[in-house]
Amino acid sequence: SSNDRINALSDALTGNLKSIISSFDSIRSKTSRQAEKQEKKQMERTLVLLKPSTIERALVGEIVNRFEKKGLRIVGMKMMQLTDEILAQHYAHLVKKPFFPILKASMMKTPVIAMCLEGVDAIAVVRYITGYTNGRKADPGTIRGDYCMSNQQNIVHASDSPEAAVEELNRFFRPEEIFDMGDLNLDRLYAVDEL
Ligand code: UDP
Ligand code: MG
Repeated sequence: SSNDRINALSDALTGNLKSIISSFDSIRSKTSRQAEKQEKKQMERTLVLLKPSTIERALVGEIVNRFEKKGLRIVGMKMMQLTDEILAQHYAHLVKKPFFPILKASMMKTPVIAMCLEGVDAIAVVRYITGYTNGRKADPGTIRGDYCMSNQQNIVHASDSPEAAVEELNRFFRPEEIFDMGDLNLDRLYAVDEL
């Protein structure tokens, strides 16, 4: 009868719906497990440059102190004179900007100090404490917010993503210039389940 057909159809639809819902559930729990895994903190290394604005204003100790006190481990550190070549790579995203020549000159005015900092989620943490690019708009409490008035002479460079960190550390450091500190101090810096 047509009733039977309607019932059969409705059963089939309900079955389909149930299986669709259950596959959504399984996708959801899988992605939330993945999110948990991704949230699981990661030991990272990131590049910081103390720019000529830091050197000229004799702020090296103070800026290094900020990172050190935060609990980021310094695993590489050296002074170097930047060149046209390295700046064209480092600021590849800005070479076509009208301000690039001024930026380049300001980055070559004195040597810079390159640092490799290490910690759980170090890349994001360092960006966060570095603050917004323009020192006039950067939050107080951030390095740029506390130490500069400039959009360009803004004290530090910090890698902005895991990909950039790898690329920039390779650009500024040879492998043997970055040191493995083992578990030095880690028990003071993190809880056991944070590592
Ligand atoms: N910069 C500048 N003028 C601008 C934007 C950037 O002089 O309008 C300089 C500034 O020194 C900045 C650097 O170029 O730190 C790199 O720019 P980016 O947008 O990558 O900012 P950051 O990642 O350093 O915050
Ligand atoms: Mg940048």
